Amino acid sequence: MTTAAQDTTTAEPLIFIVEDEADIRSLLAETLSGYRFRTAAFANADTALAALDTASPAAVILDLGLPDMDGLEAINRIRATGPVPILVLSARSHASDRIMGLEFGADDYVVKPFDPREIVARVRSLLRRSATASPTAGDAEPLDIARFAGWRFEPGSHRLVSPEGEETFLSTGEATLLGALLRAPKRVLSRDYLLEHGGRDDTLDRAIDVRISRIRKKLTRPDEPPLIRTIYGSGYMLTTQVDWGG
Ligand code: CA
Repeated sequence: MTTAAQDTTTAEPLIFIVEDEADIRSLLAETLSGYRFRTAAFANADTALAALDTASPAAVILDLGLPDMDGLEAINRIRATGPVPILVLSARSHASDRIMGLEFGADDYVVKPFDPREIVARVRSLLRRSATASPTAGDAEPLDIARFAGWRFEPGSHRLVSPEGEETFLSTGEATLLGALLRAPKRVLSRDYLLEHGGRDDTLDRAIDVRISRIRKKLTRPDEPPLIRTIYGSGYMLTTQVDWGG
């Protein structure tokens, strides 16, 4: 099956580079081009968001320190345009900042200064993970929709809709993880199982816990028991029944 959307993930994937520092922008563009990626570079968030109206990049490399928009807002607004993986660049170098990048909803996080080949490796890994997560690339049905406790989750678009109709979009890692929980409801899933079926992140073991915590926050409603329970020493369990359908 071939669709227009898949064209962006074939031979030369299109990568958006959003970075206000011209040197870093052109270094990334040149390096990625050398590895058979197409690139489109933007000096601020607004022009990148405008371009996302008409283009569907395979991944977005996003500097967290842009002149025109707060990093978290930029991630959320890019996320709302579709299920595109986001690799965040930051000038800050604390180890905990990588966790923070994931807590912001980025798919991966790199601290400056970086070796551009490291970015190539990370982008490739993101594309592999998003191809695995995409229903058109795996064996899942493209029209699969999960309904549970009034919620609705569409793995293909990473779209999560609350019982009140409020929508949010999950990162690739979060969407894969929630998909794994929704496909095995009322079972205790170990961290090993979730690493295997919920989007292995070979660079960061704590990623599972960070993503569970983000998914939980999104699924939390006042006066309702939590839908994802921590089973101490064992893993996590989705407590509600799930109906899968088109
Ligand atoms: Ca910057």
